Amino acid sequence: MEMHYQIHIIGGGTAGIMTASSLLRKNPSLHVGIIEPSEKHCYQPAWTLVGAGTYNYEKTQRPMASVIPKNAEWTKDQAITIDPDKNSVTTINSSFTYEYLIVAPGLKLEASLVEGLPEAIDKGVVCSNYTNPNHTWNVIKNFKGGVALFTQPPKPYKCGGAPQKIMYLADDHFKKVDIKSKTKVVYATAADLVFSVKEIEETLYHVIDRKHINVKFNYELKKIESEKQIAWFALSTESKERNPITLELSKKDNLVGITYNMLHVVPPNVPPDFIKNSPIVDEAGWVDVDPHSLQHKKYANIFALGDVSNVPTSKTGAAIRKQAPVVVANIIRLIGLQKLSDKTYDGYSSCPFITGYGKMVLAEFDYSKKFIPDPKLKLMLIKDSSKEHWRLWILKKYVLPYLYWNKMLKGMEI
Ligand SMILES: Cc1cc2nc3c(=O)[nH]c(=O)nc-3n(C[C@H](O)[C@H](O)[C@H](O)COP(=O)(O)OP(=O)(O)OC[C@H]3O[C@@H](n4cnc5c(N)ncnc54)[C@H](O)[C@@H]3O)c2cc1C
Repeated sequence: MEMHYQIHIIGGGTAGIMTASSLLRKNPSLHVGIIEPSEKHCYQPAWTLVGAGTYNYEKTQRPMASVIPKNAEWTKDQAITIDPDKNSVTTINSSFTYEYLIVAPGLKLEASLVEGLPEAIDKGVVCSNYTNPNHTWNVIKNFKGGVALFTQPPKPYKCGGAPQKIMYLADDHFKKVDIKSKTKVVYATAADLVFSVKEIEETLYHVIDRKHINVKFNYELKKIESEKQIAWFALSTESKERNPITLELSKKDNLVGITYNMLHVVPPNVPPDFIKNSPIVDEAGWVDVDPHSLQHKKYANIFALGDVSNVPTSKTGAAIRKQAPVVVANIIRLIGLQKLSDKTYDGYSSCPFITGYGKMVLAEFDYSKKFIPDPKLKLMLIKDSSKEHWRLWILKKYVLPYLYWNKMLKGMEI
């Protein structure tokens, strides 16, 4: 038998749970279903801290059943098709119809897009906070000096700062255990700048210069030869570097190889297959929504938020904190008055740049990439969050996880 929901949500991650909880908090009589295959819900922002040995991985996960709102119905299954013309979704075991659909299955990590990465990742000295932060900490802890290479893929990928944050923490650790003098920290990024918000970029360059990190711009990771410990990059003609150092470089097939003693990677981030193959996406395969209302551009009863949407901002949980209230207000208004609400999303996203143990900078910005610090930071006696501050570290390590589990996932706006 086909089940019908007034509001059906695909994905019980940050976006799916925040939205479901908030909808039901505003109107407990809504009939809400959630499709989610996983038994666990993860707080991924703390994985940076796990990778640096300063947070327990177990504490970043909770049973899915404990975060699904009591009055929502959970289908523990995987969505496999969406038919927007028939208002239907199928999963491996069932099919459903909906009045409103909220698409929030996040994104997929596709290691196979980098030759040699599927075999190398999370083994030996190759690690990634995106896949196994415990392994990252093992690699950093056991590093004895040499080249510590950190890579950043082309956009889009989740959490703009995550590829850098772990590097700053690793560098701080190398200093603490007194191996910094025999270590070369190299940051090979596919971008041509370290961050697109001017105030934050200035601070990050200050940090990079203080730590003598060699930054290689316009370097895109293409291949890994894990036995030889060489990472191969395609360089664009604009490639440049900051804080140049002498390195063992190889050249082959238009690629430049860097020999490493440890390597942190970010596997390419792509849309999930069932999304890419559905009729609701743009050319790149992300769900095609209006950037301000988050309503689908063609199907008025479909909304998308979180990593799977094509809104042109940094894919973060912080962005979802501001997206969820817009989706909720719009659906509630559509149900009652058949029109959208006045609430709009301005592209807000934020990135907590940890620059060392006990230090952080908080990048908050909108679609225009303007720095827009939250006025509430003043209550924490933080005058300028574009500068490193120990209180911001307290926010990241203690306050934000508390707010996430106890307020945001419960649908409260903070
Ligand atoms: C290392 C790292 C550091 C980060 N740091 C920060 C940070 O400091 N601050 C910040 O704000 N953000 C950070 N992020 C990003 C943040 O975690 C993500 O942007 C956020 O979790 C995205 O939420 P989402 O709901 O879109 O996807 P997710 O939270 O990934 O959830 C997607 C859910 O959909 C489910 N799903 C997948 N496929 C299907 C399917 N076919 N059917 C049904 N369900 C499905 C999954 O099981 C999952 O539960 C970080 C991420 C990483 C990896």
